[in-house]
Amino acid sequence: MTYSRSVTLVLTHDCPWHCAYCGFRSEHEGLLCESEVERIVTEARKGGAREALIISGERPGTMPHIRDELARRGYWDFWEFAAHVADRCREAGLFPHGNFGRMTEEELRRLRPHFVSMGMMLESVTDHPHMAPEKKAAGRIAGIEAAGRAKVPFTSGILVGWGENQVSRLRSLRVLADLHGQHGQLQEILIQRYVANEGSKWPAGSLPTLEEYEEMMDSWRELAPEVAIQIPPNLESRWVELLDGLDDLGGISWAKDEVNPARPWERVEHYREACAGVGRRLVERLPVYETHATAEWLDPVWLERVERFILEGGR
Ligand code: SF4
Repeated sequence: MTYSRSVTLVLTHDCPWHCAYCGFRSEHEGLLCESEVERIVTEARKGGAREALIISGERPGTMPHIRDELARRGYWDFWEFAAHVADRCREAGLFPHGNFGRMTEEELRRLRPHFVSMGMMLESVTDHPHMAPEKKAAGRIAGIEAAGRAKVPFTSGILVGWGENQVSRLRSLRVLADLHGQHGQLQEILIQRYVANEGSKWPAGSLPTLEEYEEMMDSWRELAPEVAIQIPPNLESRWVELLDGLDDLGGISWAKDEVNPARPWERVEHYREACAGVGRRLVERLPVYETHATAEWLDPVWLERVERFILEGGR
């Protein structure tokens, strides 16, 4: 069983869209300032983090006030700012994983040398009218395909417990497996429970039963056995009962979960003991998986550092 010791940097909560389930977005926060980047990076090193999860909403760089701030601070566009923050994390010995929503192949190729891996949830193949156009399935599928063509080690997954049914969950997993079958970009998939946060206007729907979780995991094992399955344990309280089918617990941090702030993680020891209780050993991994730690998937800037970590006993 793996996990990643991580810390999160939110480049901005500002987002041009208004998805009904969102408890993340803001209107006029602006970009993360340099001193805050330094503070988080220093705290990350002290806390022993290796992964810097760098995130934003969808295309904040299209918002006029963000464009103005980028110009004022000397950045050509939002991607240049994201690359700058990632480079600062790399200098500090961290491994940046980026998640900025849907990106084009050209944008992904631009960021590839700066990020060791990237991700975006598919969430579901079933569209809902109260979602941003950028979050519709067609756009997400195009973004995951683009990551495959750009050779970016990628994390994706589905969202559960927000009103979908089991048929739709299994269909979404099949679509992810088909995308992976074409390009091999997926290193893990999340089965992530939806949590209604402050600001979410969407009530939580019924959760998958344990049997439904097992059916999803069994189905994924048949479709893409080489791609790890993650269930974030701070979001799904029944994670211990699902350990048999799981490979990974995702990012675990002492700092808050920036997307689900009311759901802090326990200390790593808590997860280690629970895993040991069912005969599983918890091992730290990087945001890029061993399956993608190759010259095909990693820019030379990352390859040696990642290989060194694996040789030293990590995953
Ligand atoms: S869910 Fe994402 S795209 Fe939708 S409003 Fe929130 S940050 Fe924006």
